Amino acid sequence: MINRNRESWDALILGSGFAGSLTAWILAKQGWRVLIVDPERHPRFAVGESSTPTADFLLADLAHRWGLRELAPLATWGSWKRAYPNLVCGKKRGFSYYGHSPGQAFADDAEHSRSLLVAASREDHLSDTHWLRSSVDAFIAGHAVRAGAELREQAQLIRASFDPRGGRWEGIVDSADGRQPLRAKWLIDASGGAAATAAWTNNPADQVWMRTRTRAQFAHFTGVKPFAAEICQSAGFSGDDAAQHHLIDNGWVWMLRLDNGTTSVGLVEQLASPREQRTTATNRATSSGDGPTADSWERLRSYPSIAAMLSEARRITPAAGLVTSGRISRCRSRASGPGWVMLPAAYGLVDPLHSTGIAHSLSGVTRVVDILLGETSRIPRRLAGYDRDLRSEIRWIDTLVAGCYRALPSFSRFVAFASYYFVSAIEFEATMAQDPTRWPHGFLECGNQALLAAAEQSWRQVGDETVDERRFAESVRQRIEPWNRVGLLEPARKNRYAHTAAPKYAAWVQ
Ligand SMILES: Cc1cc2nc3c(=O)[nH]c(=O)nc-3n(C[C@H](O)[C@H](O)[C@H](O)COP(=O)(O)OP(=O)(O)OC[C@H]3O[C@@H](n4cnc5c(N)ncnc54)[C@H](O)[C@@H]3O)c2cc1C
Repeated sequence: MINRNRESWDALILGSGFAGSLTAWILAKQGWRVLIVDPERHPRFAVGESSTPTADFLLADLAHRWGLRELAPLATWGSWKRAYPNLVCGKKRGFSYYGHSPGQAFADDAEHSRSLLVAASREDHLSDTHWLRSSVDAFIAGHAVRAGAELREQAQLIRASFDPRGGRWEGIVDSADGRQPLRAKWLIDASGGAAATAAWTNNPADQVWMRTRTRAQFAHFTGVKPFAAEICQSAGFSGDDAAQHHLIDNGWVWMLRLDNGTTSVGLVEQLASPREQRTTATNRATSSGDGPTADSWERLRSYPSIAAMLSEARRITPAAGLVTSGRISRCRSRASGPGWVMLPAAYGLVDPLHSTGIAHSLSGVTRVVDILLGETSRIPRRLAGYDRDLRSEIRWIDTLVAGCYRALPSFSRFVAFASYYFVSAIEFEATMAQDPTRWPHGFLECGNQALLAAAEQSWRQVGDETVDERRFAESVRQRIEPWNRVGLLEPARKNRYAHTAAPKYAAWVQ
């Protein structure tokens, strides 16, 4: 049934994940009439839980700038636990990486040539967090509603068109209550991979250029055993209080421990390149398309130390079984246009490696609310800049991630290429610590041309097995020297790096 009364909104936000809800919270607090529409209902399972110092900086800055008192404690593990002991998160002191080989129990040596530990924070209470997204997203959506936004769940925008003369969208939202016609000045796409505005904005996928080609299987489990505590202590923190990366021949397994006894576990595998797929098809061998393979998860049995950790694991959510993705990396042609804008995860996403997603989404919220709440005459020009910036950011993250996959199965090459991510993040965090509103080299240094050129040179060499592993690592060390604040890849450091994040954000949330 169609309701005859047409509603009028300043912003219609598609998607009530943390990014859409946070955008709604800020806009509603500034007096905008905001409607959020989502086909799901909170709390619902959502993946993407490992936060980072970059994300914490951005979150603290958003809380500070827009007076979101209730958001601020989420910027560090200590303040989170004090303020919200029942809102589930996990302690994340840093990133840990372990190089596994099939058929062999994990073993390291005195040089730590099979493990890398990068501690972000100095102490537990300042540490980063893993988010139980189902709870965190519901928490933020609840605050958006308290600030005055309306959240319509199990509802969907089924028709929309932009009237350029009136400068408004006209559309219909379908829900259990019937079909509701509405008008909105702005359409904000926070629908993640659904890219729900694409149908109304002539915004096709544009991702053939992306280098990263991976897929994932994941769920939340109880009973995941701790990993080799004695190895992990050597960076000054328990390796279980980290985003654990267990590298295998063709990908890696993440393990993120939450305070409620569950662990997020996911397997990410590389897909064959289109050329390899064509060759495979020609050879009439098993197809390796973008869909999941039934035996992917089973393959973990051939890595004894990973299998031991999972030997008593029991899946808790989702009840329906392991989630299997198609190809993860994706991108749209544009991020904005007349009357519409996409948040980063709707525009494009690369892969979970390096945990860039939460930070990228928060950086998008920061910019989109700043633009929309700023001077009206400047909005089109600023949105065009946002569009260009997002493309550079996705390109840069794509290189940072794809180079690491290209390094596999060599652990040493992986560690060397991963240094580009760490220098980018550390440099960007140092910039934000100076002034969180000014990013002269862009998100994660994506506009730092000298750094990009250095990474591009290493990208060309990383898969070249004729270049000796040590020589490759040394060449990366020399190339990153101008930005290497923490001594990455210095042999004397033996793959152990202490508190790399500038701690300033902690001061904002005390
Ligand atoms: C396998 C995997 C693992 C990841 N791990 C990490 C990690 O560890 N750390 C990290 O930082 N990032 C990670 N990411 C990225 C992270 O998940 C995203 O950056 C994050 O989810 C973006 O949040 P969001 O609120 O923008 O979108 P989402 O979380 O995708 O939320 C989108 C919302 O839109 C709703 N929606 C869907 N269709 C429609 C529609 N038609 N209309 C309206 N609403 C709709 C959905 O129901 C959902 O509520 C991972 C991504 C993947 C794929």
